[in-house]
Amino acid sequence: MFKKHECEACGSKFRKVEELMQHQQVTHERRLYMCSKCNMGFEGMEQMRDHAKKFHSYNRMKEKV
Ligand SMILES: [Zn+2]
Ligand SMILES: [Zn+2]
Repeated sequence: MFKKHECEACGSKFRKVEELMQHQQVTHERRLYMCSKCNMGFEGMEQMRDHAKKFHSYNRMKEKV
């Protein structure tokens, strides 16, 4: 049985974890946090929030999510 490895960033599924890793490196550069506004990827939640503040006036919104 194949275990499905799912990319957390875009939901793509892979049969091998190596394929998932390669996909993430190529497609997302291992950045798993995605901006919900423009789908840019970031390494961490803080970078994503910083981006959102700069580009999407995120400071008007609450940051609970
Ligand atoms: Zn992906
Ligand atoms: Zn964005």
